[in-house]
Amino acid sequence: MKKETSSELFQRASELMPGGVNSPVRAFKAVGGTPLFIKSGKGCRITDADGNEYVDFVGSWGPLILGHAHPDVIRAIQEQAAAGTTFGAPTAVEVELAESIRGAFPSMEMLRLVSSGTEATMSVLRAARGFTSKNNIVKFEGCYHGHHDGLLTSAGSGVATFDLPDSAGVPRNYSRNTISIAYNSVKAFEDLSEEVLADTAAVILEPVAANMGLIPPERKFLEDLRAFTRERNILLIFDEVITGFRVSYGGAQEYYRIRPDLTCLGKIAGGGMPLAAYGGRAEIMRCIAPLGPVYQAGTLSGNPVASAAGLATLKILHNKSLYRELDQRSTKFFDALREVLTGKGISLVTFGSMFTLFFRAKPPKNFKEAKECDTKAYAQFFWNMLNQGIYLAPSQFETNFISMAHGEQDLEQALEAFRKSI
Ligand code: PLP
Repeated sequence: MKKETSSELFQRASELMPGGVNSPVRAFKAVGGTPLFIKSGKGCRITDADGNEYVDFVGSWGPLILGHAHPDVIRAIQEQAAAGTTFGAPTAVEVELAESIRGAFPSMEMLRLVSSGTEATMSVLRAARGFTSKNNIVKFEGCYHGHHDGLLTSAGSGVATFDLPDSAGVPRNYSRNTISIAYNSVKAFEDLSEEVLADTAAVILEPVAANMGLIPPERKFLEDLRAFTRERNILLIFDEVITGFRVSYGGAQEYYRIRPDLTCLGKIAGGGMPLAAYGGRAEIMRCIAPLGPVYQAGTLSGNPVASAAGLATLKILHNKSLYRELDQRSTKFFDALREVLTGKGISLVTFGSMFTLFFRAKPPKNFKEAKECDTKAYAQFFWNMLNQGIYLAPSQFETNFISMAHGEQDLEQALEAFRKSI
């Protein structure tokens, strides 16, 4: 594997950007070594700056369910870019995208398009607090909802990777209103004091947790949470930034048939461009300016190029049989992988087309258990795989994604690499 160009770029980048990157997990700190700089992608494969090719299971951390550079998405981007990239005024393509999103997520009676998942979760909390006039937000340990001040306590993803209990720079006053409890435990929620619950605006969670590695919910956990929040007049927010259009066209809420009050989307919804959304019950969303007193805005919100990419992606995904095919191909791959892992003290956790290999004999049920994994062994395994042309998440606390562009041969190549690497 040649690395000269990536190494040279990393040196230059490190003088300019903290850790040489624009988002921490990209820095490969958790697995050692220097990150690869990627030059191009097509289908399920990416090529780095030195010309090495990899089967990609990161998929830009989730958005690329159709694979890299899908021709329909590229065409939509090119056509819209040629007509103008941003106007700061409404466009038809935003309306079409919003209609498609609501078609897939009927609980999002009204919605707002924004530019990142972080912006969506930040704004949704403001809406929840504005609507209820309450202050507390309950979140779950190991769930990651982006990097804004309100939700960085006991967070997953990069915060877990670098073992930061919370982030520096967040005023204590902010995090005082964020209460973090164990995932998959309604009891932890019920055990919160009356005083806390009485001032709780919302509960936010990843309905299928994917930022502490992949940890699916117990169905009863989600059902009880829905019942309990409804009883208490507390809003339930599903952060479906990863699961939206991934676990099914209508996300985890369609899969589990649970209707949250508010939902956040991102990643796939933007077809690989910077776009996200939040929305929910119309009476809550009517609190947003200019209809109501909750302020939220954005120069590039609902950007037409990003909206066109999202719309082109959703037009393809609307054919739900694609999900059946993807799930079937993924299941076959996972069955074969499970055989490779037999007796190795590693657990494979899967959900649809998502998977994590936990370096721990038993699949974890929550963040505390996920943190007991052998991260050193994961790092070595990661490099073994990379050296054989397989690009996995460079951290134990992330999820890998199979896209619709991963064919039988690509998955067979990956299996062979797994056999050798394990
Ligand atoms: N919510 C979840 C569930 C995520 O996984 C992420 C990012 O990975 C976010 C929110 C934040 O999204 P973004 O990185 O676009 O700000």
